[in-house]
Amino acid sequence: MKYRFLILIFITIFTSKSFSQNFELVGKMRPGEVLIGFADSLKSVFLDNDSLEFNKGVFLFGFDRDDKGIHKLKLNFLNGKDIVKILKLKNRKYKIQRINKIKKKYVSPPKTALNRIAKERRKLRKARKEIGKDKTPYFLSGFIKPVKSNRITSVFGSQRILNGIPKNPHNGLDIAAPLGTPVYAAASGIVRFTGKNFYYNGNFILLDHGQGLNSIYLHLSKILVKTGNRVQKGQKIGEIGTTGRSTGPHLHWGVQWFSKRIDPESLLHLNISKLRAHIKTIYSNH
Ligand SMILES: [Zn+2]
Repeated sequence: MKYRFLILIFITIFTSKSFSQNFELVGKMRPGEVLIGFADSLKSVFLDNDSLEFNKGVFLFGFDRDDKGIHKLKLNFLNGKDIVKILKLKNRKYKIQRINKIKKKYVSPPKTALNRIAKERRKLRKARKEIGKDKTPYFLSGFIKPVKSNRITSVFGSQRILNGIPKNPHNGLDIAAPLGTPVYAAASGIVRFTGKNFYYNGNFILLDHGQGLNSIYLHLSKILVKTGNRVQKGQKIGEIGTTGRSTGPHLHWGVQWFSKRIDPESLLHLNISKLRAHIKTIYSNH
């Protein structure tokens, strides 16, 4: 009996050890956050029933502001083995934010503006369709705050009540800074779209960071990049403005993984260097 028990322990240690060194996952299991994984000799990765893209063993996925409950991550390896990881999302509460200074035309747009808003929405939707096609993990550059200012005027996820009317939650981080302050790319990527003088967004830039992760920079006074440009983390891409629906000079920095709404601040806390160390070890000869 004792002997069988020892064999069981041996098997457990052996099998777990043969995998543990090949798999790393960084990020928090919380609504509105992304997780980045790395594993070598991958055949496929699934989050619940959806297949995830991966490139050189690197993959990314995120949870929406309102996602809840338990999710399953499954990694299949080329040798036929697999790892299943159960991800339990923590509950998250959001602030309620009342803003009363907004011009009436931005809370309930006049009929004459509806056509224009619909047209602009179609343009952006078309650009967003390109996101996810590029599997390159540009996001491994890591992330920085795109404006050198600590004046956060609205956080991610807040339930908004504009002039007393309940509206959609706030999908980004608002950073206030003087007109003309540089706006930097939060991570490396490709410029997917630049919008000029949109009704709500004003002048803005949409960046693709690979594998469905993207960031948007709204209300700019100046745009310094063009669609298709490759940008590096920290590169100046525009300047702070107050174009579109805005009550003063600030940047609205929004992040999504496909259509999932992500808290931009969470990206600043990801331990990317831990991942990069693994990747370097595995691919140093390639
Ligand atoms: Zn905002």
